[in-house]
Parts: sequence; structure tokens; C-alpha cells
Amino acid sequence: MSDLSSLNDRMNSDFEKAREKYEIYGKFYVSLSHKAKEYLEDKSQEYRKCLTDIQRLILPVVKKVCPTCELPCCRLSTPERSIYIAGSVGGFELHDYLLAQCNTTLPDPEYENAVKNLCPFWASGCILPLDCRSYLCIQYFCDELKQELDMDLISEHLRKIESVLNSFSIAECMV
Ligand code: SF4
Ligand code: SF4
Repeated sequence: MSDLSSLNDRMNSDFEKAREKYEIYGKFYVSLSHKAKEYLEDKSQEYRKCLTDIQRLILPVVKKVCPTCELPCCRLSTPERSIYIAGSVGGFELHDYLLAQCNTTLPDPEYENAVKNLCPFWASGCILPLDCRSYLCIQYFCDELKQELDMDLISEHLRKIESVLNSFSIAECMV
């Protein structure tokens, strides 16, 4: 089996598992108790505020650089460069999924994008709201973006997001 074919097999198998996990996250969210929901709402507001703040810095550069990009990074797999998201749907793990999903309706993933090696939330750009992204996606910067951004300032913002994530307890959502 060629390297490319084995990479594709791995990508497809990882993506199938990711899809199942994402569906379980959705079921977990709808099963939350009132008390858990209250706890989640507070944390979600913190997370989304941090995302809004960092997006204010990133977006002008994204608007300048990304439209002419020949190899967009929102792929399940690109050996040269990409957010490797085949192991997740939109880069989400349970904790950031809950924080992003709380009190909003995320768009349905377009799973058929997978045959084009594209993220299920991609349609000429990310279709997720700006403050509802996964931590994996928000911390990805290609070289072109890095050149244009103040990466020290970006790192400061990423640390704030990380601290919100670290202080968020899934156990508190199981009460
Ligand atoms: S972030 Fe970089 S790699 Fe991704 S689409 Fe924009 S220019 Fe391309
Ligand atoms: S969720 Fe959005 S930002 Fe993340 S890989 Fe998919 S399209 Fe790109």
C-alpha cells in the first residue's frame, strides 16, 4: 500500500470515529441538568469573550491573506500544512464543544466535505460563528499569518483561552 493511500485510509477511519464522538457530544449537551447548564453558561460566556477578543486581532489579517491562499488549511489532512482535524469534527473535543455550543445552534456539519478532504464546517470559509471555534482551530497559524500578526500578543490571548479551558470542569456538568 502506498504512503498516500495508507494516509487516506487512516484519515477516513479517524474521521468516522470523530463523527461518532461529535454525535455523542451533542447527546451529552442535551442531557445536561439545569444546574449543569447554569455552570456551563458562565464558562461559555468567558470562553466566547476570549474568542471574540482574539478574533479582533486575527480577522483583519485573515481577510487580507486567506482569500488568495492556494492551499487552505481547513482540511482533514494535508501533509504539507494544515490543521489536522481528521480526529475531530471542527477540531472540537468535549470541553470546547460544550463551551461553544451552549445556548446557540451550531451549523450542522457537512460530512460530505470529507470526500474533498475538507472540514465539515468549511464552505468558502468557516461557517461556525467567530466565537464558537475549537481551541485547536483558534491556535493554528500558518507562516503567512505569523508574519503579519503580533505573535507575542496572540500568545497572551491564547494563554487566557487555555486558562478558561483549564478551569472548566466536565465533572461539574454531570451533576
Ligand atoms: S490561515 Fe494560512 S493556510 Fe489557512 S487559509 Fe489562511 S493563508 Fe491559507
Ligand atoms: S472548524 Fe472552521 S476554522 Fe476549524 S478547520 Fe473547520 S472550517 Fe477551518
